Amino acid sequence: MTSNKEDYLKVIYEENGLERPVSNKVICEKLGIAPSSVTEMLSKLQKQGFIEYEAYKGSKLTSIGGVICIKLLRSHRLWEVFLIRYLGYSWREAHEDAHLLEHVAPERMIDRLEAFLNFPETCPHGSIIPKNGELFENTQLVKMTDLKVGDIALLVRVEEDGDLLDYLERSGIIIGEYIKIKEKEEYEGSVEVLQKEKSIRISYKAACQIYVEKRR
Ligand SMILES: [Zn+2]
Ligand SMILES: [Zn+2]
Repeated sequence: MTSNKEDYLKVIYEENGLERPVSNKVICEKLGIAPSSVTEMLSKLQKQGFIEYEAYKGSKLTSIGGVICIKLLRSHRLWEVFLIRYLGYSWREAHEDAHLLEHVAPERMIDRLEAFLNFPETCPHGSIIPKNGELFENTQLVKMTDLKVGDIALLVRVEEDGDLLDYLERSGIIIGEYIKIKEKEEYEGSVEVLQKEKSIRISYKAACQIYVEKRR
């Protein structure tokens, strides 16, 4: 399978395509590809049994399509751990180069990589690494913007977008550590958090893409 096809499957997966159809419009936007080429590729993927296409609704992943996506996510996330832990990559660089490696590394290499890394639970950005072909998402998470002043929460995961990753890494915030909400700016919505006695201001746009587990 070519990496191009795999990227289509991953976009559908990320948009909850195992549960409900994902529209062509969303796929075009996410991949930045013209509608005509998207339609063509989707019909190929349908013929090969990776998706089911419903007219006027969109594409749903078949179980085989889902298996491929989970393998890709596992490979991607393990490479990210390796690149950051051993090659000094930044959050953004790791995400970008893992995207190349995920498509070419055979499964036996990924199995050995996982053992070499001592079976990490998550990627450096907090996404869960699938185990035994299954991926259970953490359903307890809320956005940082949903927290109130004084709330304490564990910073679990951030969205994997290059610009956001650069911004967050520069801010010095740590994934996997507790934060306390110190202040929320009323108008613009930026959030000031305390983490390990350090005060960090996060823009509203970024705070919408940070997922936390609130302490009860
Ligand atoms: Zn990534
Ligand atoms: Zn990641």
